[in-house]
Amino acid sequence: MVTQTTCPVCKTEVSLTDFFCLGLRKKFKRKTAVNFRDQAGDEKSKKIGIAAIVLTVISIIITVWLSVGIINSIGNIVNSRLIPSDLGF
Ligand SMILES: [Zn+2]
Repeated sequence: MVTQTTCPVCKTEVSLTDFFCLGLRKKFKRKTAVNFRDQAGDEKSKKIGIAAIVLTVISIIITVWLSVGIINSIGNIVNSRLIPSDLGF
């Protein structure tokens, strides 16, 4: 991941997360920070983002699946211990 870039004005090395240029000793304009963020959104970052979304969806599916399984097994245990006469039948 690229974390370093150069200041567009004075070419000093700055971090992509910096909002302050050490060369100019002043804050970047808001537009400059946005441009840095666009440079950070390269192809690799997009792939990592998609992978993160896919993993999140898979983990949600697994969580729901396990929850349904646990709820069903608890239901089965409760049902197997209920004696029909307790319910008035
Ligand atoms: Zn600068």
